[in-house]
Amino acid sequence: AAFSSLTDRLSSAFRHLRSKGRLTDADIDGTIREIRRALLDADVALEVVRPFTARIRERALGEEVSQALNPAQQVVRIVNEELTTILGAGVDRPLNVAKNPPTVIMLAGLQGAGKTTLAGKLGYWLRDAGHTPILVAADLQRPNAVTQLQVVGERAGVPVYAPQKGVQSDGGEAVASPGMTSGDPVAVARDAVELARTKLYDTVIIDTAGRLGVDEDLMRQARDIRDAVHPDEILFVIDAMIGQDAVRTAEAFDKGVDFTGVVLSKLDGDARGGAALSVASVTGKPILFASTGEGLKDFEVFHPDRMASRILDMGDILTLIEQAQRQFDEEEARKATRKMSEGTFGLDDFMDQLQQVRKLGSMKSLLGMIPGMAQHRRELEQFDEKEIDRTEAIIQSMTPEERRNPDIIDGSRRARIAYGAGTTVSAVNGLLQRFEQAATMMRRMANRGMNGVIPGFGG
Ligand code: GDP
Repeated sequence: AAFSSLTDRLSSAFRHLRSKGRLTDADIDGTIREIRRALLDADVALEVVRPFTARIRERALGEEVSQALNPAQQVVRIVNEELTTILGAGVDRPLNVAKNPPTVIMLAGLQGAGKTTLAGKLGYWLRDAGHTPILVAADLQRPNAVTQLQVVGERAGVPVYAPQKGVQSDGGEAVASPGMTSGDPVAVARDAVELARTKLYDTVIIDTAGRLGVDEDLMRQARDIRDAVHPDEILFVIDAMIGQDAVRTAEAFDKGVDFTGVVLSKLDGDARGGAALSVASVTGKPILFASTGEGLKDFEVFHPDRMASRILDMGDILTLIEQAQRQFDEEEARKATRKMSEGTFGLDDFMDQLQQVRKLGSMKSLLGMIPGMAQHRRELEQFDEKEIDRTEAIIQSMTPEERRNPDIIDGSRRARIAYGAGTTVSAVNGLLQRFEQAATMMRRMANRGMNGVIPGFGG
């Protein structure tokens, strides 16, 4: 994920500190130097790093640390608080909703930032929450931007308003178009808001054109759309992988369209990501959402405190639980829990659980939310969905009786199963062993009442 190397560096800075009993000023200065270097190497802007480390230094040399029983922990706590501040703790708020619908949300940003993808995610998320959004294609620069938005809308089940004659896109229902606005994004946006008002769509999400670099024409067009529809929210979408240019770009858009909130996109990428961390601090605008993949559900509400603890490898269990709730089938989960506590959890159920895991989609983006996971991240990032395929093939070549009661699977059955699944006996042995471990762990968890432990798999 975007912040993995930053997390590694910060963890190692704190590790040095933890090995000491008392902290001298020199220890603290050394740690702050490491933190500073880690942030700069992660592309966090110097103008953000400088005051950040100064505040940490001031607090760490003060009483709260020197008087503490566990000074190293106090330093971590201070860094956590200051990082939360940088990420916009003082200004964070939920999405603005209009008192009189429709709520108008306009998306701005460079081409490729992830605006169109975000429009779909946002639409899907709003629909899921009981809203009736409509997407508007006001990007008339890029040749297939309109088509792309239509595809996204269809996947999200959200209607799309586009400026072609007799617009046909539907995410369930067709949206009529006056067919007269072709070519003028301002008119398209205005017509769409009017349509939403009469057809009772409660949220209008306007996708606007982006250029490869900031340019004045683009900015003027975005301003014209803004002035025509008075958005409740202007979201500046920024690609976390863009590096040092992030600050300059954010400042240009801030000056150009005076956006109201930020969306960090591509947080799943491998880039250093730190530039994105500078944006809230430099512009003073809240980060409202994070985009973490190409799928519709790879999207989350941004919380500065949760992100800070993720970066510091202190975990983000709240987001993890929310994501899991969105993706897991509760009925399935209840059934599995019951079977676990009854001790009748078989390989068929194991396979159902693997399907649930697969549904979690990009597992990798969830890894950083589990506290202490940074050390294991490398192994886990090698987690391979094909492994689930192989496991399923093995279970599928067992008889129903064998799946219910794996104890009967002896040597000759193992050979038959391996042959049927096109794999080796040792792969079958490995799976049975993992199943046994998982079953034991599940029994223990069921006894403890599912105390928030995530069942492990892979061995
Ligand atoms: P736009 O030009 O701002 O509308 O950007 P798009 O929505 O077309 O996105 C540009 C590319 O980035 C597309 O290939 C998207 O699939 C991809 N993309 C968008 N958001 C994310 C994200 O959060 N993670 C990843 N990995 N890719 C993304």
